[in-house]
Amino acid sequence: MASVSTPTPMMAQYLALKAEAADCLLFYRMGDFFELFFDDARVAAQVLDIALTARGEHEGEKIPMCGVPVHAATAYLQRLIKAGHRVAIAEQTETPEAARKARGSKALVGRAIVRFVTAGTLTEEALLDARAANWCAAIGEVNGAVAIAAADVSTGRFVVIETNAGGMGAELARLGAAEVVACEGADHPASVWRPRADFDSAGGEARLKRVYGVATLDGFGQFSRAALSAAGALVAYLEHNAKGALPFLRPPALSAAAEAMAIDAATRESLELTCTVTGQRKGSLLDAVDRTVTGAGARLLSEDIAAPLMDLGAIEARQALVALFHDDEALRERLRSALRALPDVGRALGRLAAGRGGPRDLGQLRDGLDGAWHLAELLGRVEPAPALLADTLPRLRGHGTLIDLLKRALVPAPPIEASDGGYIAAGYDAALDDLRDAGAGGRRAIAALEAKYRADTGVSALKIKHNGVLGYHIEVPARAADPLMRADSGFTHRQTMAGAIRFNAPELHEVAARVTQAGAHALTAEAAHLEELTQIALAARENIAATADSLARLDVAAGLAERAAEGHWTRPHLVEQPCFEIAGGRHPVVERALANAGDRFVANDCRLSEANRLWLVTGPNMGGKSTFLRQNALIAVLAQAGSYVPAERATIGLVDRLFSRVGASDNLARGRSTFMVEMVETAAILAQASPRSFVILDEVGRGTSTYDGLAIAWAVVEAIHEENRCRCLFATHYHELTRLAERCDALSLHHVRAREWKGDLVLLHEVAEGPADRSYGLAVARLAGMSPGTVARAKSVLAKLEAGRAKTGGLAAGLDDLPLFAAAAQAEEAQCDAIRAEVEAIDVDALTPREALDTLYRLKALA
Ligand code: ADP
Repeated sequence: MASVSTPTPMMAQYLALKAEAADCLLFYRMGDFFELFFDDARVAAQVLDIALTARGEHEGEKIPMCGVPVHAATAYLQRLIKAGHRVAIAEQTETPEAARKARGSKALVGRAIVRFVTAGTLTEEALLDARAANWCAAIGEVNGAVAIAAADVSTGRFVVIETNAGGMGAELARLGAAEVVACEGADHPASVWRPRADFDSAGGEARLKRVYGVATLDGFGQFSRAALSAAGALVAYLEHNAKGALPFLRPPALSAAAEAMAIDAATRESLELTCTVTGQRKGSLLDAVDRTVTGAGARLLSEDIAAPLMDLGAIEARQALVALFHDDEALRERLRSALRALPDVGRALGRLAAGRGGPRDLGQLRDGLDGAWHLAELLGRVEPAPALLADTLPRLRGHGTLIDLLKRALVPAPPIEASDGGYIAAGYDAALDDLRDAGAGGRRAIAALEAKYRADTGVSALKIKHNGVLGYHIEVPARAADPLMRADSGFTHRQTMAGAIRFNAPELHEVAARVTQAGAHALTAEAAHLEELTQIALAARENIAATADSLARLDVAAGLAERAAEGHWTRPHLVEQPCFEIAGGRHPVVERALANAGDRFVANDCRLSEANRLWLVTGPNMGGKSTFLRQNALIAVLAQAGSYVPAERATIGLVDRLFSRVGASDNLARGRSTFMVEMVETAAILAQASPRSFVILDEVGRGTSTYDGLAIAWAVVEAIHEENRCRCLFATHYHELTRLAERCDALSLHHVRAREWKGDLVLLHEVAEGPADRSYGLAVARLAGMSPGTVARAKSVLAKLEAGRAKTGGLAAGLDDLPLFAAAAQAEEAQCDAIRAEVEAIDVDALTPREALDTLYRLKALA
């Protein structure tokens, strides 16, 4: 790149490729390096902590540059992707020799982008987490309907979920997609924006038909326009990233968001279902439950927990499989130890299908499918087989021919890369065996030549060596080279090194040529076999993927059984009526943390029914209120995911929507906006919770002043009791709320027990009936290490306040005069009716912009 105003040919080529790469970093292949230039280089040098240098000039400025060696590119890619970047890989499309031959001595090597590496479209083992799915999602919106299509190209999973604008966030949170693709100009969060044309539903339909080679998509289910838009856009994006070579996609599985328990993003985060608030798997419910022994099992468990079922039959089918392995410990042990030894068939298949597989992946298919076959033998003896097992068994078998073929064709432990050969087994191909014999014979002949040359020349230090430049050659120490240097010696001088001289000889040349040629032919023959075997395996990819699914399902069930046995969990009884009866319930994450510290978890009951559906839980800070609330929500999730639950007994009415909200702490640094968030989220619950929902509210209203907070908490409890009528656990430190028990007949009072003993506070973590007798705030302060002087001062202030309260009626004075929620709501209803009537009268299509504005003013005045 020289300093001229018109760019050099190479710079022109680079800029054209960079334009195609757009906002992706461009890895520009130069020999053994991928180079990055300009801003790409600055970004990469910083993220990768590598040296930023400069090269040539462009428009009078030095060009920043950095590079990574090709052989180590994967590790660097991983760090760039982790840091949130996408990378376009531009490879050389011809050798420098070919370029020179075709276009003269100064010809520039042709380059092209061969692939975009992005977080959502990885297949490389090194770049993926074995225990987590890797989703790439696209959002389609047509006339207000919303669909999300998501693919995990590492295994070919492809799902399409019908939802709506309100449910979109929850579905994306459930998937935890690594990349979210949205249409340019759409007003929701996404990580990649693609052109509007990609989202056209008719175009999407055509694209899907082409990909699956079908004339109609009816065989997959009924796609809405939004679903076609989402799925079509996703396929377009995947094709774009793979430069037209679409990775492995299984037929799309259509589902509606309503098929799973609805859990919005805030609830998911607050309950730490599959990761903690800080994004770690460790410390989450998933982590506390996961005893799977395969990556595929761990991935499926994560999905199960993220999407608890709503269908009683399906839940019971999962439970029955868990129960089978729970009750038969020996069977469980055998199954788990067999699964533990199996490779990740799904991911191996994904790599092969993406054209990035190698001999080892075929070996993994062989071993995995063979293992599945043996498991089918083991499980086929179970009588009577639960339905899910009976479904699974046929999918475990049925690859006999492929297994036999791969067993014959491959060596026991094939290498990852095909480049060095040696993966096709002896005896599979006679011609290949001959080539290998010829090679081996040649190598023996070379050894014999070495002995002969030593004898002929009398140089005992003579050696025949091999390197990439000279091939086979003779090497002797310089001081002993004389006999070979003579003109009639028959040796030809090739190279003089420090201390050694290298020669060639006609006989060696001939034998070496044979060895090299046989080696090259053998490599070609092996590569042809690899290609053929890969195609044969891929022809069965649907069935192989189904086998991988079945193995994962078995692993999940056996893992849950193991967890249940280990923790003395129980099989919950699921019913349609909105009850919730837990005897001796525990919090799986807190229990484990306590056990590690040598402490015991206190089990607690929870009994909700239609007539007693709202529990108000009071008691001192640190008394165990949050833990109690959460453990019950988690038990509902586990139960509907098909798992046993940490309790002695459990009867649970199906939960259609689960909500969890924790009041914002009045942390000054987070400020007012946190309270705003708390209110927005609480409003969402009041708008959505149905009588079949389950809601936990922890200290809602805490994030504002005492009066505001109490007022809000009061109104929220009333609304939930009167309007939503869902099951609800509400923890609060506002004692005044206990008065609600007098007017809300389905509300009951509970508290976490505490005792003062010899001046110390003892938290019993036991949930008991009735209100807490006092708040113990000062005792908690002492427990927290506040100085005795400060506590004594607080005590005297409290005495004054309480004396004052006796006179004025206190914080709760006047609450008794409040009209019931319903009455207050009536006035609001009337106002809403007026607005609704106004809105219904609008003919949107007929409005001029001016009239639209006037209408808005009118509506605003009504509100
Ligand atoms: P609160 O919400 O009332 O402030 P938490 O639920 O946060 O209290 O519990 C505080 C701590 O008490 C927990 O971190 C845990 O160590 C302990 N704890 C809570 N519940 C129990 C229980 N049931 N058994 C034993 N320890 C518990």
